[in-house]
Amino acid sequence: MPIVNVIGAGLAGSEAAWQIAQTGVDVNLYEMRPVTMTPAHHTANFAELVCTNSLRANQITNAVGLLKEEMRRLDSIIIQSADATAVPAGGALAVDREPFSQLVTQKLMAHPRVHVIHEELTDFPEGVTVVATGPLTAPGLADAIVALNGEAGLSFFDAAAPILDASTIDTDIVYKKSRYDRGEAAYLNCPMNREEFQAFYQALISAEVAEGHDFEKMTVFEGCMPIEVMAKRGIKTMLFGPLKPVGLEDPRTGKTPYAVVQLRQDNAAASLYNIVGFQTHLKWGEQKRVFRMIPGLENVQIVRYGVMHRNTFMKSPAVLEPTYASKRRADLFFAGQMTGVEGYVESAASGLIAGTNAARLAQNLPPLVFPETTAMGAMAHYITHTSPTHFQPMNANFGIMPPLAVKVRQKKERNQQLAERALTDLAAFKNELSRVNQP
Ligand code: FAD
Repeated sequence: MPIVNVIGAGLAGSEAAWQIAQTGVDVNLYEMRPVTMTPAHHTANFAELVCTNSLRANQITNAVGLLKEEMRRLDSIIIQSADATAVPAGGALAVDREPFSQLVTQKLMAHPRVHVIHEELTDFPEGVTVVATGPLTAPGLADAIVALNGEAGLSFFDAAAPILDASTIDTDIVYKKSRYDRGEAAYLNCPMNREEFQAFYQALISAEVAEGHDFEKMTVFEGCMPIEVMAKRGIKTMLFGPLKPVGLEDPRTGKTPYAVVQLRQDNAAASLYNIVGFQTHLKWGEQKRVFRMIPGLENVQIVRYGVMHRNTFMKSPAVLEPTYASKRRADLFFAGQMTGVEGYVESAASGLIAGTNAARLAQNLPPLVFPETTAMGAMAHYITHTSPTHFQPMNANFGIMPPLAVKVRQKKERNQQLAERALTDLAAFKNELSRVNQP
């Protein structure tokens, strides 16, 4: 009987293992937690969300929403589990983080084809293998990846936002509302007038950052930039970013505040909220001092402080095929954040492709390239065809898909048509997959 190894049971590895097992192929799933922990994970659960509990937009007119819909149609364990543990989040798919990762863990543990081994691997095993050890890959295996790929390894830093105890938020000051009243009112909004904003801005740019890294010289994701770094770009920058007040008028006054800090529900019980866009590297005491200047948070209890972490990814355009197979070893696949896809859903999607192809190889079938017109295929194409010299991680977006045959000016209509084309092409590809999947 064929068997495939999957290393890492995070977002990508869990998805890869599920896809392999569902084709009837046995999987050895190696996960080092809880024996060895990473600096960002807190539990032994599979698919633990290390920062926000949001899997971002859910509509197909948004590329990450389309990505989710494609995955739903391909029996994704990550999306099934997210749908089953969703919490209100306007137009986004956010989850109750503990039940979400518990559900993924239970489903995999209960699968007769999945064999879980709690062990840290320091080298690649023999045979068909998917490496999905994430941005915090343990050092031994990171060395093995560098040895395989030569100089094609990079590392940089990433940041996580603080989580607040909801019972300590002043509900006389904050108000519940989603931007432009989209979906159910899901966010708590902390309104600021000009003076409050300016005082907050001054405190933020002069607050002390944690020691250990020369922060200004670090390369960080644009999408996960620490709030203090964003603030230092100019007094107005936050007003066009996370503190943007448009569509968030205060229902009690009917007026739009000068700035708004948004809090997003973090668990189903609504007992925890995170501060949207407030990834930070400030010292913990400074986080408490500065974030308590936000109206409504004067007495807030921070239950988990924002932190900075190492993040490692490969120079995929030089070392990976669009099937997610290594160019150096045909039976070795990589998946997740380490391939240069950025985000929870993107990581899981790459695991879906790598898992599908690893299972095919184990059954003596050739790996397949997913259609570039799908969000999943466009990501795989992008990370393997862009310039290796300035390669940076990439989120799902419509800009990396081939344009429509006929130009459509209006953005929403264009996105709708791109999404419809993707789902049509995916349906045809799925038929092809199930036809040739018979060994
Ligand atoms: P992971 O989910 O980290 O899974 C890798 C797994 O491999 C882990 O379980 C780990 O224990 C295991 N492992 C590592 N080395 C070994 C080994 N040698 N042997 C066996 N097991 C091993 N993305 C977002 O979309 N939103 C966010 O808010 C966000 N915030 C982030 C914050 C931080 C601090 C970091 C580091 C990343 C963040 N990301 C975020 C980026 C990324 O989407 C997540 O890291 C995501 O979890 C990546 O999925 P993955 O499967 O590649 O890795």
